[in-house]
Amino acid sequence: MGIFQWKPSSGKLWRNIWRKAHMGQYFSSVPVGERETWAYPTPLTPDFWKNYSEPVAQFVTVAREFVDMITALARFKPESEMSEPEKFEFLTARNRLLYLSSQVNPSLGLPEDGSWVREWVCTSQLASFAMMVMLDVERGLINECANCQTIFVSSAARAKYCSDRCRRTALQRERRGRKRGMYSPLKTGSYTGGEYTQLED
Ligand SMILES: [Zn+2]
Repeated sequence: MGIFQWKPSSGKLWRNIWRKAHMGQYFSSVPVGERETWAYPTPLTPDFWKNYSEPVAQFVTVAREFVDMITALARFKPESEMSEPEKFEFLTARNRLLYLSSQVNPSLGLPEDGSWVREWVCTSQLASFAMMVMLDVERGLINECANCQTIFVSSAARAKYCSDRCRRTALQRERRGRKRGMYSPLKTGSYTGGEYTQLED
């Protein structure tokens, strides 16, 4: 690596920063009573990665919040068509996306051949996922399936169904609905006759 590579300090400053951020919860091998005074390993070192872990409940909660965020973004529509709760959900999701994607920073790489390379440095995997979502949202590529509510990315902006299967299922349901609408007096209450045309399958 080049001579400019940053090396984190293992000094007192780091230890204080990590303690204050309650890093004890990410080092399950540290006894609870010693979390405030433990000499945590320097971030990004082999010793750090060997001992670092994340509580499963916290991981799952954050993952769920991320899914909720994408779902709200996929349901985006013109403001005039949104209810107040939908507006609140959408703005909350947007704020979360902006917060997470702001943790992706532009950087200049310094290859040994003396050239410049532009790089993006993500402070977490979640930040890099958020930036991917941001780029897809901007192009309208994140959709919610109108049949099974799965969130999916499609190169065709505003795609309605996640798969051929869902598209066929929805079409069949629509046809059956039309048939019922024509023949069931309970449903329509106003059937007055007329020709029935068999729809193609
Ligand atoms: Zn689907």
